[in-house]
Amino acid sequence: MHKVTAIYPGSFDPPTNGHLDLIERGSKIFDELVVAILRNAEKAPLFSVAERVGMLEALTSHYENVRVDTFDGLTVEYAARVGASSLLRGIRALTDYEYELQMALMNRKLRPELETVFMMPAEKYSYLSSRLVREVAQLGGSVKGLVPELVEQNLRGKLDPAYRLGEFADIEESGKKKMRTRKKA
Ligand code: ADP
Repeated sequence: MHKVTAIYPGSFDPPTNGHLDLIERGSKIFDELVVAILRNAEKAPLFSVAERVGMLEALTSHYENVRVDTFDGLTVEYAARVGASSLLRGIRALTDYEYELQMALMNRKLRPELETVFMMPAEKYSYLSSRLVREVAQLGGSVKGLVPELVEQNLRGKLDPAYRLGEFADIEESGKKKMRTRKKA
């Protein structure tokens, strides 16, 4: 029987529970799903491509039909290289629609035989984005329930040093102002 391979391209900086929700759904309808991390998408990513590969591999190792890869250049050309006939993308709120539609139609023009398939995550992830996770986590906010534990742990290592919670001691300075300094190791 004809095997249907789909690519799921994105930045995944970092992977969130929304991405994993989509991977789970995609793994059920495609014979093979390739999670494809775009290299050089951002000039200054929070996680290196190697770190993102490592996290996604660990998070998807229980799926027999999911693998992780990286690519650059045109997505449609990458899809052709791996023999994919479908491209999976997530649609969250209405705001995703216009951009995704534009991209899907451009990709169709470039390679008509590649079909873009949109899937919706569970409602609780529909306002979740990697950008928001990065911003909240870097300022020391909790992202529990929004990203897998592994990602949560790795985010801690990327915290803005000024916000490393629990590593500070308040000390009185000149009897008036309180200053936050790092505890001595
Ligand atoms: P990109 O920079 O290509 O948008 P992302 O890593 O942000 O890369 O997203 C990759 C894909 O995953 C996109 O199709 C995006 O719509 C989808 N996605 C991101 N976050 C979620 C989420 N919370 N729920 C469902 N899909 C999501």
